Amino acid sequence: MSRIVGIDLGTTNSLVAIVDSGIPYVIADAEGRRLTPSVVHVPGPDATPVIGHPANRVRLLKPAETVYSVKRFMGRRGSDIAREEMLVTYPVQGTGSGPVTIQLHGRAWTPEEVSAEILRKLKADAELSLGELISRAVITVPAYFNDAQRNATIRAGELAGLTVERIVNEPTAAALAYGLDKLRDKARIAVYDLGGGTFDLSILELNQGVFQVLSTHGDTRLGGDDLDRRVVDHLCREIQQAGGPVLSPTASDPTILPMLSRVREAAEHAKIRLSSESETEIALPFLTPAFSFSTRLSRARLEELTHAIIERTRAHCLRSLADAKLEASALDQVILVGGQTRMPLVRRKVSEWFGCAEFEETRGDLRLGDDFHKAKGPQLNTSVNPDEAVALGAAIQGEILAGGFRNLLLLDVTPLSLGIETFGGLMNVIIPRNTTIPVKAGELFTTAVDNQRSMLIHVLQGERERAMDNWSLGRFELEFEAAPKGVPRVGVQFEIDANGILHVLARDVKTGHQKVVQMKSAVDVDDADVQKMVEESVANAFDDLRARQWIEAKLRAGETLIATRKTMAEYDSELDPDYRQQLHAALDEVESVLSLENPKTKTGDPARLKGATAQLDEVTKPLAEYAMDKVMEAMLRKKGVL
Ligand code: ADP
Ligand code: MG
Repeated sequence: MSRIVGIDLGTTNSLVAIVDSGIPYVIADAEGRRLTPSVVHVPGPDATPVIGHPANRVRLLKPAETVYSVKRFMGRRGSDIAREEMLVTYPVQGTGSGPVTIQLHGRAWTPEEVSAEILRKLKADAELSLGELISRAVITVPAYFNDAQRNATIRAGELAGLTVERIVNEPTAAALAYGLDKLRDKARIAVYDLGGGTFDLSILELNQGVFQVLSTHGDTRLGGDDLDRRVVDHLCREIQQAGGPVLSPTASDPTILPMLSRVREAAEHAKIRLSSESETEIALPFLTPAFSFSTRLSRARLEELTHAIIERTRAHCLRSLADAKLEASALDQVILVGGQTRMPLVRRKVSEWFGCAEFEETRGDLRLGDDFHKAKGPQLNTSVNPDEAVALGAAIQGEILAGGFRNLLLLDVTPLSLGIETFGGLMNVIIPRNTTIPVKAGELFTTAVDNQRSMLIHVLQGERERAMDNWSLGRFELEFEAAPKGVPRVGVQFEIDANGILHVLARDVKTGHQKVVQMKSAVDVDDADVQKMVEESVANAFDDLRARQWIEAKLRAGETLIATRKTMAEYDSELDPDYRQQLHAALDEVESVLSLENPKTKTGDPARLKGATAQLDEVTKPLAEYAMDKVMEAMLRKKGVL
């Protein structure tokens, strides 16, 4: 079996990683670089696209022909791009529910096609480095990506010639890279991910090797780029004060752009150096033929310029915690992901906000056990390169799927139960909540009414007993030949694939006639909604159980009433008046319990109804036996025996 690479298809940077002999590592390109800027430049109508570093370099010079941050458009509809947040320097089109396209030299590119160019480059880099063909990959996406965005990512992979074996949430991948799946049985982890242009804070819960995203919050317009802009503004001011050119980003002067491009690059590099140095030199020789610039920037000044941006992430941390209904002290670890978290200020702030124990200082101290850490709050774990964690985790997931790691990890589970509506409006669970995926399960169903010609398959998700209290995922009808009730056999099978998409199959067992309908993702649901559903099911457990018992008792009572009345009518003249009286009394009792159904809650007293039905059964026994004898007699007579 071929190997499976892990790919972090990032907004700013993309990476490809692999596990080799049990050890995950990021694959470098021919120049030894491990990060590929997620930038695609198309130089001309029939030109080969330029990808990564060289494309990034011309980004400011050829703004209309260079696509960056294309991840923002993946799986989006035309109406989404009307929003100001989608503003980019290249032409983007799309209206209503139509697709989004990017116009480059007269050709309309879809976001998937642009992403495929990046993936193709990563694939080629991996093939060159490993000396083998790569055709399978695990690709990561933000936890908040919806179905359309996940599907677009899968399509991009396919366009690049990759089979996407699985889509994994970025925070989950990062936690895997940190080896957190090997933590004790239950652990809670915050993943703080500050990249180039996006920020996400996700709270994960690990339960015996299974990660679940409890909550996720963030800002799709907040990241390292914002810090760069502050530094650029600062440098532009200094350049002007030193008698240099006025570099306003809005200036239409064509000579400004190349200069601004150099200042941007210098600013980002200085910012990066200041993560490990306390002061740095910024030199821009011959910014104009007559002007050279140089200055020094200290870490303290950088922090002054940018701390307000970092502060903006705090509210999202608090909201994520609130959504997960957790105090920071209930977390076991906080892990840092994204290049910008290498900044010491970010580490200090995050550590302060989450009340983290001083991880570095206590780690080696054998006297300090788990209890000590608990008392001091979560650990700030920075043991993995923050810009590589997601790709490494994807590679680990790939290795697991390829069968490389023995202790198979279970990564995703169904957040809520899935099933179909059955007689009387009850939910019949086919795949229970917290089942690990992929999974396939099914059951046989039949009809409740004579001569039914079709069965309505109403697919439900939720924890409540009654269909109406659960979420409706969709419905379709399966036709079959008319037959007495209880005779048709319809098999219903639910399959959740590795990407969380639910496929529902319904088959008429007699004819083999079947329908397969793809539902939306069964896994990708809002955590707050899941929480609410589960809480409601607990709060209503007693009423729900009663409602189910009532509906079941009612169906049973209904059947008994019909059967009894039918037989009574048939043999009415032969019935002893006393016995007839008894039968009527028993029937009346069932009827009267049924009539006590509360019209609002649609429930009654199931125990009393069961009792009344049992009593009716008891009373009708002689009648049933009599009827049976009559039928036998008629049969034997027909056959000439009597
Ligand atoms: P994304 O997930 O958006 O693709 P990354 O995780 O690769 O992005 O983060 C890119 C950002 O990290 C850029 O803004 C870059 O300047 C910043 N960055 C990278 N290394 C460092 C560093 N050592 N110190 C500070 N910022 C850094
Ligand atoms: Mg990232």
